Amino acid sequence: MTQKTHSIIAYTADADIYCPGCAREYFKLIHGWKFALALLSAPHDQHGIPETIKDQAGNEAGVVFAISEPADYPEACCACFELIRD
Ligand SMILES: [Zn+2]
Repeated sequence: MTQKTHSIIAYTADADIYCPGCAREYFKLIHGWKFALALLSAPHDQHGIPETIKDQAGNEAGVVFAISEPADYPEACCACFELIRD
């Protein structure tokens, strides 16, 4: 089983970092019905977020994997303040 090392533990969008639950809510909020459309037309990841999702600035959202160096990121979700850990 290599699933853990491929786990997405956070997303980066618009210069903030989100836990998976908040990222989903954030993308739904900024994309509205286009979020649902993207889910139908593009592959989505383990958290139900389309792989092609973009942030508000139009940049592709970043993903943080469990194996990523934690020092590169703030350690808490900017929305719920949950610590981001694998
Ligand atoms: Zn959160």
